[in-house]
Amino acid sequence: MENTGQDFIRSRIEEDNANGRFQGRVQTRFPPEPNGFLHLGHAKSICLNFGIASEYGGKCNLRFDDTNPVREEQAYVDAIREDVKWLGGDWEDRQFYASDYFQKLYDYAEELIRRGKAYVDDLSADEIREYRGTLTEPGRESPFRNRPVEENLDLFRRMRAGEFEEGSKVLRAKIDMAAPNLVMRDPTLYRIRKARHHRTCEDWPIYPMYDYAHCLSDSLEGITHSLCTLEFVNNRELYDWILDALGVYHPQQIEFARLNLEYTVLSKRKLIQLVRDGHVAGWDDPRMPTLSGLRRRGVPPAALREFIRRIGVARADSTVEYALLEHCIREELNAKAPRVMAVLDPVRVIIENYPEDQVEEFEMPYHPEDASFGSRMVPFSRELFIERDDFRLDPPPKYHRLSPGAEVRLRHAYLVTCREAIYDSDGNLLELRCVYDPASRGGQSPDGRKVRGTIHWVSAKHALNALIRNYDKLFSVPDPDRAPEGGSFIDNLNPESLQTGEAWLEPALASLSPGETVQFERLGYYCKDPDSLSDMPVFNRTATLRDTWAKLEKKAGA
Ligand code: ATP
Ligand code: MG
Repeated sequence: MENTGQDFIRSRIEEDNANGRFQGRVQTRFPPEPNGFLHLGHAKSICLNFGIASEYGGKCNLRFDDTNPVREEQAYVDAIREDVKWLGGDWEDRQFYASDYFQKLYDYAEELIRRGKAYVDDLSADEIREYRGTLTEPGRESPFRNRPVEENLDLFRRMRAGEFEEGSKVLRAKIDMAAPNLVMRDPTLYRIRKARHHRTCEDWPIYPMYDYAHCLSDSLEGITHSLCTLEFVNNRELYDWILDALGVYHPQQIEFARLNLEYTVLSKRKLIQLVRDGHVAGWDDPRMPTLSGLRRRGVPPAALREFIRRIGVARADSTVEYALLEHCIREELNAKAPRVMAVLDPVRVIIENYPEDQVEEFEMPYHPEDASFGSRMVPFSRELFIERDDFRLDPPPKYHRLSPGAEVRLRHAYLVTCREAIYDSDGNLLELRCVYDPASRGGQSPDGRKVRGTIHWVSAKHALNALIRNYDKLFSVPDPDRAPEGGSFIDNLNPESLQTGEAWLEPALASLSPGETVQFERLGYYCKDPDSLSDMPVFNRTATLRDTWAKLEKKAGA
């Protein structure tokens, strides 16, 4: 993972390295909460944290931020590990959990109490909110704020022993109820939660709050630069306060803008809703912006890394154009995907002058520009399928494909001329009767006559039947969160985001493995799905071939 472009975070790190702040060390972490699957937004954070570590000879830890037992699960831990690896993040042997530190965090909390910097409060959650004040009004001090240290220690130990009910007590930092930054008005550090934790089970009836656990986990792991999204700007003051109050090793928190993408929601809460309510087939539905969904769709990890590289990191929120993501996917697949032939909407072609039982094989390269892809043999016979759309009875001007009397090139095979189109009584095209020029083997014109059109084909009796899932954007509007009055983002779902159909494929595709992506020539990029059966492969459309972004870029450059 490399990103040589300079940005404010990298400048900051170079500055720290230059003045020896962390002895030139760079240690980052990627800290997902295991309460959902990773999405494109997380990809930005993964590329940033692992990328920066590798660029500066440092290390990046994977840390599960598992301080909220009610929402977290082992299944999410497993999925996150797989996704980070897939994107290229390598944490080596440094996989940690915030829950690994529960005892240490508890000991630090006792230390804060002993230093007079934390107290046990009996106010209810509602009262605490009420006492907090507002941006324009200072808060009020809790009547329990000035408990003596000994009493606080005793109560906190009894909280830990499980003596009190949920919600009856919390541990709070003793900072300043009039602080202009609301985060600093005696924030809660610990709450009582009698819930089973996916790793520590019933060991702990109290759980640390994110702000408390995060800075101390960073400190314990020797993190140098703790990169997080902008909504934590106000929390940085508390991050710093806790570490200073304890006098422990102090990393630097740096905030950057979240990734927002057109036609996409990137909030775990909303993604959970899509899965739970059956709007998609699961977390890895190829329409989902999750890493597992993108993988199943056929998006190569290198395309996502390039996408993240191109959007860069900034301190101001913005929304990225969907076309840029598609462009990065096409650019990568254009270089990496083998070319094959498939017919999605077939019409039968009979080559009348081709011998009944003859089969010829044509060698075709898998990539037009890269010989290292190798080639395969494609069978040709008297009956073929071509795309229905490659024939017109009344061709418009400049139509170079097939029409009565017109000659076209069957890719890498022969030149054929359409003699007759046969329709049923309802006007449906049944078959095309053609003749071929035996002197045009390989698709060459034997006498220099011009044949403009080249179309793809498959041999009917050799073709593999497949199921096709053509995916489009999951939402039909660029900003799905802007819902009609009284509605929600669900109302903006694109009813046509999935269209299924059948296809006829050249036989070499039988050996493709699930997860492999190819280009169906002239149609798009398709990835073999794990749902495939041995006699009925399933292909997901990864992307169409049309690239609006490349055109826009050209225009902008011209
Ligand atoms: P959500 O708001 O969707 O629940 P989260 O921030 O709570 O996401 P975490 O699992 O806590 O999810 O995130 C792990 C890391 O990924 C954090 O450092 C977080 O800042 C980062 N991250 C999450 N969403 C984005 C995003 N859209 N853009 C960039 N980074 C993100
Ligand atoms: Mg979070």
